[in-house]
Amino acid sequence: MAKPTSDKQGAFTSLKFSIFRNLIQILASPINNFNPKRSFFEEPHLRTHQFPFVFNDSIDSDLVLRDVGMSPVKPWTQDEKSTILALVSQLSHCAPGLLRLASIGSPINLLRICRLVLGNKSEPIAFSGQRTILLPDAFFFSYGQIHNFAHEITHIADDMELAAFSKQWLEIAAPVLQEYRVNPQSIKDEAFSKTWPSEYACHSVIEALAEYVAAFVNGRYFASKVKFEETVAPLIISPTPMVNEWKVLVEKARQAKNAKNYIQARLYYRKASKLFPENPRTYFQLAGIATTTADYCEIVKNTQKMIEAFEVVDSSRLLYPTMRDCILQILKTYIQTQEFSGADKYAHWLLKRFPNDTTILELEKYCQNKLLNSVE
Ligand SMILES: [Zn+2]
Repeated sequence: MAKPTSDKQGAFTSLKFSIFRNLIQILASPINNFNPKRSFFEEPHLRTHQFPFVFNDSIDSDLVLRDVGMSPVKPWTQDEKSTILALVSQLSHCAPGLLRLASIGSPINLLRICRLVLGNKSEPIAFSGQRTILLPDAFFFSYGQIHNFAHEITHIADDMELAAFSKQWLEIAAPVLQEYRVNPQSIKDEAFSKTWPSEYACHSVIEALAEYVAAFVNGRYFASKVKFEETVAPLIISPTPMVNEWKVLVEKARQAKNAKNYIQARLYYRKASKLFPENPRTYFQLAGIATTTADYCEIVKNTQKMIEAFEVVDSSRLLYPTMRDCILQILKTYIQTQEFSGADKYAHWLLKRFPNDTTILELEKYCQNKLLNSVE
């Protein structure tokens, strides 16, 4: 349910780009380097009759999780498989477009585990990332399985945050999330349940979207129903052909990147960014890929585009912490590669927006010292 970050060494040829490698992976997914054994990209409409899931009884050796503690994978029982089949069938009736969108790309891996504990000690009922859904015992004992399943499917369908980081969704979500930040007690108001699916849906725009979509496809509607149907649903629940096309491109890009075919990956991400220029994530991926060839011009260009995209979609500045994390990773890449003037530039950019951030202040001081020493 939450989305922790993760890390794994040795994926790139050049070690000096290891930080940026992490950055690409972190934003690509919470579970890294899980290379699906099979891959197919078919026209979305051809996939409706297929079952886009794989019941895995063993974990891929490349699967590395950070901040996610999980017990060993256990075999699926027939009963549990039947439960999942029933949920998929239900979802294919109430939200066929969502299921179809999630199905684009490689099959979705279903892993059965006993227990799941996140870094913050929470024990989610389900968790997803890198086209994998982890299902602990708690999921099968829980009420509202269809809600929880639809929640994870939303994450899979929108794992590049086309909908979650969209202007349309922010227009609906930002006022509620900001109200919650100022006044957490607001969820105790009677009117809250008519406005928002849950308290959990107040924590981030990504979780808010998954909760809202899950509630919506299960027939729970909110005051923003009409606006949601008109503006956000076409990005996720009833995706337009352009959204499906975008998803095909980013999935192809992801697979090319995993195979270290960066030229091909760049091509697909560029095409995707032309379809939805306002999505910041594609530029971040492109900036990351540019580090594989130390192409600073490309890094700067794509970072700039990413910053602009964040600012265009997010007048509320709700996504600024996400943008901070992205820029911070870019800054660290510059430091790692001894490009202190580049690092300093991004440190200044960040300090303007986060003047009291001690991490940034320390990095800025470090860059300044390095630059002074190089002059001497
Ligand atoms: Zn979630």
